[in-house]
Amino acid sequence: MLQIKDLHASVEEKDILKGINLEVKAGEVHAIMGPNGSGKSTLASVIAGKEEYEVEKGEIILDGENLDELAAEERAHKGIFLSFQYPVEIPGVSVTNFIKTAINETRKSKGLEDMPANEMLKMIREKSELLEIDRKFLSRSLNEGFSGGEKKRNEIFQMAMLEPKLAILDETDSGLDIDALRIVANGVNKLKSKNNAVIVITHYQRLLDYIVPDYVHVLYKGKIVKSGPKELAHELEEKGYDWIKEEVGA
Ligand code: ADP
Ligand code: MG
Ligand code: MG
Repeated sequence: MLQIKDLHASVEEKDILKGINLEVKAGEVHAIMGPNGSGKSTLASVIAGKEEYEVEKGEIILDGENLDELAAEERAHKGIFLSFQYPVEIPGVSVTNFIKTAINETRKSKGLEDMPANEMLKMIREKSELLEIDRKFLSRSLNEGFSGGEKKRNEIFQMAMLEPKLAILDETDSGLDIDALRIVANGVNKLKSKNNAVIVITHYQRLLDYIVPDYVHVLYKGKIVKSGPKELAHELEEKGYDWIKEEVGA
């Protein structure tokens, strides 16, 4: 599904990613961990196509298509979802209306008509039940006065509705409390299927007790310096990152 080959990327003339190779197949969950400032959020942003980030070298391929020339919005339409893509507060626009617009924009990009209202309602009902989201929440103004947990719930709801091929959840800097952590984990587990893939970026091994990854990668100074099974996350929790720094001779 996703292939990243020798990816080098910079932001504001600063080289951040220095040769990333990563392959994510449909049905897989990959965790990316690593010390602060390693480039984890940069990698997420580059995959999503945020324009401040410059790809210097290498390729990002989704389902055989090189994404190089595609803007963030087009990548979203192709099924890449990055958490916190829409962190804005929009007074007067409800959670539901926002997602309706996003869905219809995606359809438009594929030459499809708006989703019929009854179909949309059915989908909203199904997904909100699945994620145990109540009606009152759906009619609230987007992100206005949302708690950390409510922001997460909204994000996971957006993800559920958009049914992305590849969801990238960057949780590093969000200071997840235990409630928010459960919301994210439950949502991801319920939405996981053999047709989609998830990349979870996290500092916390804790989150990976709930979302069990197939692979764990350690990003350090812009490179993936170690990959392994889920147990690697436990090892990192116990021993920190210093042993990896030594192992790679940094
Ligand atoms: P991580 O998510 O692993 O903590 P980041 O990708 O956020 O790491 O940051 C990696 C490096 O890139 C840091 O040195 C950070 O200061 C720099 N960086 C990231 N985004 C920007 C940006 N938009 N402008 C300037 N520097 C940035
Ligand atoms: Mg950081
Ligand atoms: Mg980060």
